[in-house]
Amino acid sequence: MSVELCGVSKRFGEKTVIAPLDLQVATGEFLVLVGPSGCGKTTVLRLVAGLEEPSTGRILVDGKDVTSLPPGQRDVAMVFQNYALYPHMTVAENLEFPLKMRRLPRPERQRLVQEVAEVLDIGHLLNSLPRQLSGGQRQRVALGRAMVRKPAVFLFDEPLSNIDAKLRVQTRAELARLQQRLGTTTLYVTHDQVEAMTLGHRVAVMKEGRILQVGPPLEVYRLPADTFVATFIGSPPMNLFPATVQAGGLVIAETFFPLPQAVLPLHPGEACTAGIRPEHWRPTSAEEPALALGVAVVELLGPTVQVGGYVGQTWATVLLPADARPRPGDTLKLTFSPENLCLFAPDSGQRLY
Ligand code: ATP
Repeated sequence: MSVELCGVSKRFGEKTVIAPLDLQVATGEFLVLVGPSGCGKTTVLRLVAGLEEPSTGRILVDGKDVTSLPPGQRDVAMVFQNYALYPHMTVAENLEFPLKMRRLPRPERQRLVQEVAEVLDIGHLLNSLPRQLSGGQRQRVALGRAMVRKPAVFLFDEPLSNIDAKLRVQTRAELARLQQRLGTTTLYVTHDQVEAMTLGHRVAVMKEGRILQVGPPLEVYRLPADTFVATFIGSPPMNLFPATVQAGGLVIAETFFPLPQAVLPLHPGEACTAGIRPEHWRPTSAEEPALALGVAVVELLGPTVQVGGYVGQTWATVLLPADARPRPGDTLKLTFSPENLCLFAPDSGQRLY
């Protein structure tokens, strides 16, 4: 079922935490809300869950206005980062609890618990108590408890943040598979852009209570709406350089790069910000225009090497093949292809190209 927020805002006292925003999540879609701490992601989830009341606007589930419905009547299930299992109940009892609340008959409850335990591979844990489980297992049980009553919408609030790094990667993949298999509309909150990129059919990037951009992960990555999105999505972040337009090209760090006219939305003499992602650089020894990077930090990542240093006054990070073995103190000559360049307005930060 679809979820729709229409002009939804939220104030706490004098403070506006969510500016009026519009957001549609299609039936079966996995939409990830991503943004820095405090930007209002959790508040959006709580509004959809009915745990907060919007200051303005309407929330629709499957086209039906649920704005004034209490949480229990919204057919949504929320999973928090801190699992919130009942400590004195076994895993089976925890899973069964939402079904008891709905007064389902016992055989039906047992069938649903078995089904969900199988899907999540926790069948062998059914008689354990939460304290006997690892963090990852507990989180699976919490997922199971959200899934067992087959809600129309899943709301996830950083469900993987308390799991250790290795298990997090595995659970992330399982979660994606699970959502695909169940086809349940999902709104997922994280501050981790890798999670956003790998899980979401679409990603909504939030900052200070506003949605700056919504789109498929690759689109947001390739065509960020502004410098905030450009540097928030992608790790290490996109490099940004002050630049000036000249006839037929762009000057970055005192080097002239000829560019096709289509790339240049500005007029000669105008300033802009040039953005180039770390992986879009290549070393060059030829007589082509290049930026000089004074190597300061070299980190071997395995298949690639991450190199940090100054280009003129600007710090830049580049990813190069591991066989390029620069050392601190070296100067690298680097260039890029025009199709990998982004240009932003210097004041608003909005993308121009
Ligand atoms: P995080 O990733 O740290 O959880 P978030 O993006 O989920 O952050 P929210 O938890 O939605 O952000 O909070 C957004 C802002 O709203 C914060 O400044 C927070 O202090 C404020 N806020 C949230 N709930 C309340 C409340 N009940 N009363 C007052 N202010 C609140």
